[in-house]
Amino acid sequence: MHIEPISQSSLEEDSKRYIKGVILAKKVSIDYETAKHISFSVEGEETKHNVMYFDEKTGTKKWQCDCKWYTLQNKVCSHIIAVNISLKEAFIKI
Ligand SMILES: [Zn+2]
Repeated sequence: MHIEPISQSSLEEDSKRYIKGVILAKKVSIDYETAKHISFSVEGEETKHNVMYFDEKTGTKKWQCDCKWYTLQNKVCSHIIAVNISLKEAFIKI
């Protein structure tokens, strides 16, 4: 599957969140992949979150996270940032 990354400027919109993402980027792993979506695990110090990428959706809607922050804000969270950095830096490969 081809992953459309989130633009660097959107990732860096909030510098505090971006730094969190940089730290978490090394804790990303691929959970599973189907024809229409990919599931990633992001393991934090105490919590583990699940980030999903949906091929058929558009823009930032392609990305979804199960964390409370994302659910309430509906904006790119540190876990989604982490997955994007991880792909960019080739820590993980699709
Ligand atoms: Zn999240």
